[in-house]
Amino acid sequence: MTGVDDERPRRDAGVPVVCSACGGDGYTAQPQLTVLDGIPQTGVAAAPCTWCGRTGRRRGIHAHD
Ligand SMILES: [Zn+2]
Repeated sequence: MTGVDDERPRRDAGVPVVCSACGGDGYTAQPQLTVLDGIPQTGVAAAPCTWCGRTGRRRGIHAHD
């Protein structure tokens, strides 16, 4: 017979949640200077998310007894 504790998530594991920095995409918007037809504009390039390492998930909620 297995104990109830075996089926419970580990306390230090946490629950994976969507990364709040990239919204789960794994990439964040990186504004850059762009020149189109001689007109300087703000362009957007995708940069890897440094919060979650491009996974789009982070450890979030921690259960307490
Ligand atoms: Zn992220």
